[in-house]
Amino acid sequence: MRLKIITIDGPAGAGKTTVSKLLSKKLGCVYVDTGALYRGVAFEIQRQDIDWKNDTALEKFLKGLDLNFVMEKDSFILMSSGRNITDFIRTPEISMLASSSSARPQVRAALLDIQRNIAKTKDAIFEGRDMGTVVFPDAAVKFFLFADLNIRAKRRFDEMPDETKDINRVKKEIEIRDHNDSQRESAPLTPAKDAFKINASFLTIEQVVDKMLKLIEKA
Ligand code: C5P
Repeated sequence: MRLKIITIDGPAGAGKTTVSKLLSKKLGCVYVDTGALYRGVAFEIQRQDIDWKNDTALEKFLKGLDLNFVMEKDSFILMSSGRNITDFIRTPEISMLASSSSARPQVRAALLDIQRNIAKTKDAIFEGRDMGTVVFPDAAVKFFLFADLNIRAKRRFDEMPDETKDINRVKKEIEIRDHNDSQRESAPLTPAKDAFKINASFLTIEQVVDKMLKLIEKA
């Protein structure tokens, strides 16, 4: 039987993770945050001080990379060489490094199998940038979730515990990531032709999820 894959792509701060979590609960399936893998790569690049713009250094690094997701309770945690790195990959530095290093085709190729192997055994919601376009072109239902830049920046800002946070900096970083992600040659951020596009600027998470559930029912 064909397993059911739902994809949610979109820019940073559009609400993909929160929506995926709630939608996966309603549908009784797992969700996979593929951005965590790119963050895992960035974490290891930083930790091992890799010259990732150099092909030889990058390829050697990727050969030794051992990233994988492990199920804990009902969600995935990210492991790197057997170590749980989930709590270390959400810093602004890692966000920016993930955004620039993910443009390297070798990095994208190295992460393809991890994503597709999960889909072989589980019904799942995959969220990221190229889920509907490259990784799962045959997904059962595809969504592209987007929102106004100011609203995305404000949401990210509100989520940050850091006392020294600065809304203009958050906005600038999102703008740079949007630019990197949508302008790169390899798997750029763009809606799949058959994706349902949802503007989440003025919708609550519940409203977005309701919309998605209705579209999934009809599909
Ligand atoms: O989704 P998140 O913001 O955690 O992703 C971090 C970075 O990883 C993104 O800015 C993007 O450059 C990259 N990414 C990607 N493809 C994906 C998921 C994330 O290139 N499928």
